[in-house]
Amino acid sequence: SHRIMLGPLVAAIDQGTSSTRFLVFNSKTAELLSHHQVEIKQSFPKEGWVEEDPKEILQSVYECMERTCEKLTQLNIDISNIKAIGVTNQRETTLVWDKETGEPLYNAIVWLDLRTQSTVERLINKTPGRNKNHLKHKTGLPISTYFSAVKLRWLMDNVDEVHKAVVSHRAMFGTVDSWLIWCLTGGKSGGVHCTDVTNASRTMLFNIHTMDWDPELCKYFGIPMEILPRVRSSSEIYGLMKSGALSGIPISGCLGDQSAALVGQMCFQDGQAKNTYGTGCFLLRNTGVKPVMSEHGLLTTVAYKLGRDKPACYALEGSVAIAGAVVRWLQDNLGIIGSSEELEKLAASVGTSYGCYFVPAFSGLYAPYWEPSARGIICGLTQFTNKSHLAFAALEAVCFQTREILDAMNQDSGIPLTQLQVDGGMTSNKLLMQLQADILCIPVVKPSMPETTALGAAMAAGAAEGVSVWSLNPEDLSEVTSEKFEPQINPEESEFRYARWKKAVEKSMNWET
Ligand code: ADP
Repeated sequence: SHRIMLGPLVAAIDQGTSSTRFLVFNSKTAELLSHHQVEIKQSFPKEGWVEEDPKEILQSVYECMERTCEKLTQLNIDISNIKAIGVTNQRETTLVWDKETGEPLYNAIVWLDLRTQSTVERLINKTPGRNKNHLKHKTGLPISTYFSAVKLRWLMDNVDEVHKAVVSHRAMFGTVDSWLIWCLTGGKSGGVHCTDVTNASRTMLFNIHTMDWDPELCKYFGIPMEILPRVRSSSEIYGLMKSGALSGIPISGCLGDQSAALVGQMCFQDGQAKNTYGTGCFLLRNTGVKPVMSEHGLLTTVAYKLGRDKPACYALEGSVAIAGAVVRWLQDNLGIIGSSEELEKLAASVGTSYGCYFVPAFSGLYAPYWEPSARGIICGLTQFTNKSHLAFAALEAVCFQTREILDAMNQDSGIPLTQLQVDGGMTSNKLLMQLQADILCIPVVKPSMPETTALGAAMAAGAAEGVSVWSLNPEDLSEVTSEKFEPQINPEESEFRYARWKKAVEKSMNWET
């Protein structure tokens, strides 16, 4: 039985855009023993605005923890075996709270949110040569609505409570990791205000070479440095859980979700890559200890730093804003499916988009275009087109967007990827996986344990100094099994469809002019 096999257990909080999960793994085998998941409400108060409630996010974490512990107890597994907890989170999403009351001062502004578009345009217009890459040499990022600095600036300029808290030195800024760690380690009575290097590298206030907050960047965005969390490595003890069933257990891992997936997929070698299909879609390729600057619209980001004295590793990243979000849109806004699982059946019933192309540029276009004014379009419609074709076109859109970033990645590195490792909620859709292999013309490989993001955070937590229940040696893990999707259509057919897609993308960027 489990009792004999069990080594120490490690856990992860996975706070994503669409849901929160808590998961417990056996540190000897990476086996997932128990987990619980709670959906997160998103609100869209105005066109282009996306918000979430910080208290609901925190509550969902506590609920997931409690329910997972109950399930473990039912499995006859003693929760005192849990030795470490890691945090992984939706990145860039921006929060400000009052350190004296512990209260959030506004909703969390979600990474997809477009309210800062005019600020971003103003900032770009002020740069020499109207260059959106003006700060890229320090940050690895283009000036865009995507990153935290402009969202924080918006909060300071537009929310009275935030402004007041900043001038009276009561404000704390954080991404979701910081908010959770601060609350879980005691909040207003002694909570730890910190973030890790991977999350920090998505704020646009962090210098990826010095690995610290950059005074010049803070000045550029007008952000007082005292409201920023302390930057730590991705694997060290930040603090102890203050309450609940897991009280006293160290929180000792922290990674932005895409970094955590890279770790959980064991992409520790220079050149290894993974693509995660969640709300958005994120392809990261490890570039080792050197930051590589893209010439093809990719981001340079901190991949992980697994210990205070360990080197930082970097990644090239292609980010797509809308992947699973288009599925949710078909469900919530058009009502043509009742759940995300229904999409596969609907699309498979026709097996073609019948010449319909759907560019879901709801939040502008991210990599490789970085065009905030792009908007979604559906083109190629005929009297014959129906909702099944539209469903198919939505799935194809995810695959084409991945193809665009994979092409950029291959051009930047000069060494084409020969297969793609994948994970994320959307990968349960087998039709999508097959389509992806067809459109990339390389095999797509999906691990049978899909929770790689959580696994990465749990590994970082277990490997922390002072915890060390888990060496990061992949050989220590039992055989990682996977499912492989081989390309089935001929490359000419694939190229033809991809060329049409590119035309549709052009139109999504120029439809107003
Ligand atoms: P996140 O980490 O961004 O919250 P997840 O990895 O949990 O995202 O994936 C959830 C997303 O995947 C949702 O947008 C959902 O619509 C989509 N999704 C889940 N299952 C399927 C499916 N079978 N087919 C298509 N999309 C799916």
